[in-house]
Amino acid sequence: MMNEDDPPKTLAMLPMQITNIRATQPPTPGSPDDWRTQLGQIVVEVETDIGLIGVGVGGGGAAGIHVVQTVLNDLLLGRDASNVESLHAEMCRHTSFYGRKGLVVMAISGVDLALWDLRGKAANLPVAQLLNPDVDLTRELPTYSTVFDDAEAEAAFCAGHQAIKLHVERFGNQPDPGAIAELVRRTRARLGPDASVMLDAFARWDIDTSLRVADAIAPYNVAWLEEPIQPDDLDGYAALAAKSPVPIAGGEHEYLSDGFKTLIDRRLHAVLQPDINWCGGLTTLIEIYRMAQASNIRVVPHRGCEPYALAAIAALDPDPLAESGRKWFKCLDGFPATYEGVVQASSSPGFGVSTHP
Ligand SMILES: [Mg+2]
Repeated sequence: MMNEDDPPKTLAMLPMQITNIRATQPPTPGSPDDWRTQLGQIVVEVETDIGLIGVGVGGGGAAGIHVVQTVLNDLLLGRDASNVESLHAEMCRHTSFYGRKGLVVMAISGVDLALWDLRGKAANLPVAQLLNPDVDLTRELPTYSTVFDDAEAEAAFCAGHQAIKLHVERFGNQPDPGAIAELVRRTRARLGPDASVMLDAFARWDIDTSLRVADAIAPYNVAWLEEPIQPDDLDGYAALAAKSPVPIAGGEHEYLSDGFKTLIDRRLHAVLQPDINWCGGLTTLIEIYRMAQASNIRVVPHRGCEPYALAAIAALDPDPLAESGRKWFKCLDGFPATYEGVVQASSSPGFGVSTHP
């Protein structure tokens, strides 16, 4: 008879030989008519000889699928899936001549997340609990909603979100700072003084424009101004970090630990926003959290309400805040529901997701 103090039976100590890696790009009706669809999210399934299948999500569309099913599949076939960190390091080294940033790393992210999903399933534990045995999976984590227009802002407010991020791409590359300030003023007036308001500029401005907008919105207590300039303009971010009256956020389009280490060492952002499905997967995100926390820089992962980032936020984040997920990405079961501005991480083994039967 099993003693109550016995640990749950798991497959954790068994080697799991990788027998096949598959990737597909599911249709995403309603997704934007740009690279987010053309090079959109891919579902990666890592099959093993013990019958467990890990499910991950990466990026890169057909090109990402090609990377997964050629170089990464060749590299990992027959290997023990439980060695997640060393397989991650090998994938990065194997692709380093052509893929230290961008869609190759997006493809690696999908494989890494599938391996973490396998690790959780083999241990019969949620990934959040693997990362932090003391995690409280009943905890309600605060969310924020990213909106693209006034109607979406109103809907987010009515749904109970107490934090809203306004996408201001619609104002163009050289916006009138006064027009953006008026939008922020109206939003602040609608949400009240306690809610958080953020702005995302989608890397369209120059430094001068960014500073003029930051000055114009500063009176409205904006939590952060996100990606005002191109991600590789590190000197530009240094200038903004020194001069902007509003905290600067970024990192959504940075890759792997080396990329984030540079951002952190130079203290270019007040808030880092790695995307777990692009930046190198959970193995990379764990390292980003470690480095950022050592430097007192906040991490707010991109689309944190989706199950992969949410596991890390629940387990590792001392100041959790989960961004709303992508409405058009519905190809997996097990995505958590957001209600009245909060979300809970999965308590199912792995990331708690599955492909549709
Ligand atoms: Mg963004």
